[in-house]
Amino acid sequence: MITLKQIHKYYSVGKNKLHVLKGIDVHINQGELVSIMGSSGSGKSTMLNILGILDDYDEGEYYLNETLIQNLSAKKAAYYRNQFLGFVFQSFNLLSFKNAMENVALPLYYQKVGRKKRNKLAMEYLEMVGLADRADHSPNELSGGQKQRVALARALISQPKVILADEPTGALDTQTTQEVMDIFKEVHGKGITVVIVTHENEIAGQTERVIRLRDGVIESDGAENNSIINDVETAG
Ligand code: ADP
Ligand code: MG
Repeated sequence: MITLKQIHKYYSVGKNKLHVLKGIDVHINQGELVSIMGSSGSGKSTMLNILGILDDYDEGEYYLNETLIQNLSAKKAAYYRNQFLGFVFQSFNLLSFKNAMENVALPLYYQKVGRKKRNKLAMEYLEMVGLADRADHSPNELSGGQKQRVALARALISQPKVILADEPTGALDTQTTQEVMDIFKEVHGKGITVVIVTHENEIAGQTERVIRLRDGVIESDGAENNSIINDVETAG
């Protein structure tokens, strides 16, 4: 589903160039549940933004569903985002002047789906995250965990192949974190690829594969560890 080959990313800071990703190689299969860990500043968000076609990279190749994602026009980037990707952010990014149902329906509004149809679908996704009874509440009437579940429903309504989440539980307490994580696992159970950037061991411990970034380099990748173990076992 996702292949990164020798990805490099630089940011310009004044006259200097900051080398933030230094040759990232990753392959993520359809349906995997992956976490990306690493200390603050290690490049996690940069990597996720590249995966989300929210940011460009400077060297290497990114394939999404076998399409090379490189130097896309804004229109094409939006097309691939809508077609394949759903986003969840630490800060929820809900519109405060719209209720929960309208927030969930928003992607369909932009896709020009009629009101009746999009509201009906929004209710189905709210139900999926256990919030059908909060449909007419505005975000400021919801708890942090509920807001994140609304955000997840909104990410799911376009039926993405991949959910990209940047510290989705960073603003939540332990119990709420688990509620949200349970929904991510449910999403993963439906065959959707889930990539979660997190600081929390409790979250990473619940994913199949942990990729650790350190200073723009992959320090370890659970998938590679597995294959090393498999090789050793095969070698007897
Ligand atoms: P993480 O999410 O792991 O904390 P980031 O990917 O946000 O790390 O940032 C990696 C490095 O790139 C940090 O040193 C950060 O300060 C720098 N950085 C991130 N975004 C920008 C930007 N838009 N311009 C310049 N430097 C940036
Ligand atoms: Mg970050």
